[in-house]
Amino acid sequence: MTGAPRWDLTQLVDDASFEGVKKSIHGCLKEIDGFVESYRYRIESMDAVALKGLLEETDALALRMDGPVMFASLSFSADTSDEKARELNGRASTVLAKINRDLVFLQTDLSRLMEARPDIISAPELSEYRHYLERMRDVAKHMLSEREERVVLAKNRSGIESWSRLHNRWLASKRFPMTVDGETRKLRLGEMTPFISDPDREVRKSAYVSMGNVLAEDKTLWAEIMSAICADHREMMNLRKCPYVVSPSLDRNDISQGTLVALMRVARSNAKLCHKYFDLKAELLGLPRLGSWDLRAPLPGSPEISYSWDEARRLLVSVYSEYDPLFGEWAEDMYDSKRIDSEARKGKLAGAFCSVWENGRSAFIMSSYNGKLDDVYALAHELGHAVHAYSYTRAQVKTNYDVSKCMAECGSLFGELLLTDRLLKEAKTPLERRDALVHVLEGFTQTVFQEGFRFLFELSLYETLEEGRQLTADGIADLWSKAQRTIYGEGMDYLPESRYDWARFPQFFSAEGRFNNYPHVFAQLFAFALYRLYRVQGEAFKPKLRKMLEAGSSKSPVELVAELGFNIEKDAFWIKGMEQAKEYLDELRRLSYEI
Ligand SMILES: [Zn+2]
Repeated sequence: MTGAPRWDLTQLVDDASFEGVKKSIHGCLKEIDGFVESYRYRIESMDAVALKGLLEETDALALRMDGPVMFASLSFSADTSDEKARELNGRASTVLAKINRDLVFLQTDLSRLMEARPDIISAPELSEYRHYLERMRDVAKHMLSEREERVVLAKNRSGIESWSRLHNRWLASKRFPMTVDGETRKLRLGEMTPFISDPDREVRKSAYVSMGNVLAEDKTLWAEIMSAICADHREMMNLRKCPYVVSPSLDRNDISQGTLVALMRVARSNAKLCHKYFDLKAELLGLPRLGSWDLRAPLPGSPEISYSWDEARRLLVSVYSEYDPLFGEWAEDMYDSKRIDSEARKGKLAGAFCSVWENGRSAFIMSSYNGKLDDVYALAHELGHAVHAYSYTRAQVKTNYDVSKCMAECGSLFGELLLTDRLLKEAKTPLERRDALVHVLEGFTQTVFQEGFRFLFELSLYETLEEGRQLTADGIADLWSKAQRTIYGEGMDYLPESRYDWARFPQFFSAEGRFNNYPHVFAQLFAFALYRLYRVQGEAFKPKLRKMLEAGSSKSPVELVAELGFNIEKDAFWIKGMEQAKEYLDELRRLSYEI
């Protein structure tokens, strides 16, 4: 028993009974119909004042629906075996699907209006919505008519969304043979996870070999499906007149192509940092060189430090307060207002997340707390998300709460580095210091370099089709291995069985997952760059970070970084992130001689 609490979701709704929430969700469906009735076919002729009214009403509608929809989805996350929660969650999904379907006109008509009358963007009445309207104007040139957009949605439902569901079911049906204590058992993919970070090298290797062999059985099927998914996307890009297969993802994340190019150039040209970490890890593991099956290997001799729930709470609140008393107050509020569910129990969704409660200008955090260092880091991370949410929901209108994946980790990863700083200061032994540094460097290398190679892999699929070549199972496996070696280099041994690893990642078989790797590279390197600036500028940096967190999506990342005095489309900003990682690596190397 760690004393970790459950959250109180009743604060999200007026009536938290099953019937009460059902009624509220039903009310949301009716409200959407009313909204469509009021605004359809009217946007085209709107002036600035009328447009402001529409945007305010859209915000108000979204905020009214926030509580019941969140109640339903969070209740289900907290207990997936609860039939009532499952039903409510299903109803909430219907609301979200209806919004996607019925409010298509809002996007298409607003984009058309911005394209026809760009002057409206600078109207003083619309100052709070300026950047949102600029983005609407910019996507107009790639947008089809409302009718065509609805056909695309319908096509995707029976196309890529079906492949995505099939992939989930296929993965869930697969069993991987694993010999444990002399007994061979057939395990699910999720049950294989502990073996890839097992202290025994042979166990790790046999887990990867087993996964690779089973995935290879269906390689032709998934190559064919991947090929169909990529061909469909290329065709859509032609129809939409998009210059680049990554364009829709860049638009969604508010990222310029120049930013992506600079980011990936810095990631690739600094791959040696990753190689140096792997060499050091091999040394610490007592190996001549690392194998790809050692990437998740734990280091020997780690002290078993356990943090009680109260100790972790005191530590985290004090870490945030020390940096900024207001951040500390908000972190404390998350605990006091019962918005954290960290009790480890059966039926909860795995992993940790933070959901922004927009209408309450707050958030809810879920994790499973077992007192380990990783659990404390998970909470530091999610509390950083909460601090970010408290910041922009207090400073912006609802439209500007739409923080992109690239910027969404500013608070969370920065918070992790604040915790690292504290742990390094308070560590009693070199081994404790080593473990804090390893935690940070594992996260950094796995995100910047692993996600980086997956991005290069996905891009190479399209380049292959562009050159008029087919995507076969072995061709895809070659692209996977090539991208991996481009980043991880030749200083590591690779398992031939892992060539078909691409088949197990849902992101390559879903619409939301398409080109979803570079935002992780961006977010990680961005947070490290911010931390570097903080280390150099000290107190002077703090108001800048506050301003950035408060901005939400009201400004583009290019504008936000310009306010810090950097151009995000140039390498120099990203190199700051690499410098911070290098400092941690140098410190780890120095420490490893002491141990
Ligand atoms: Zn996060």
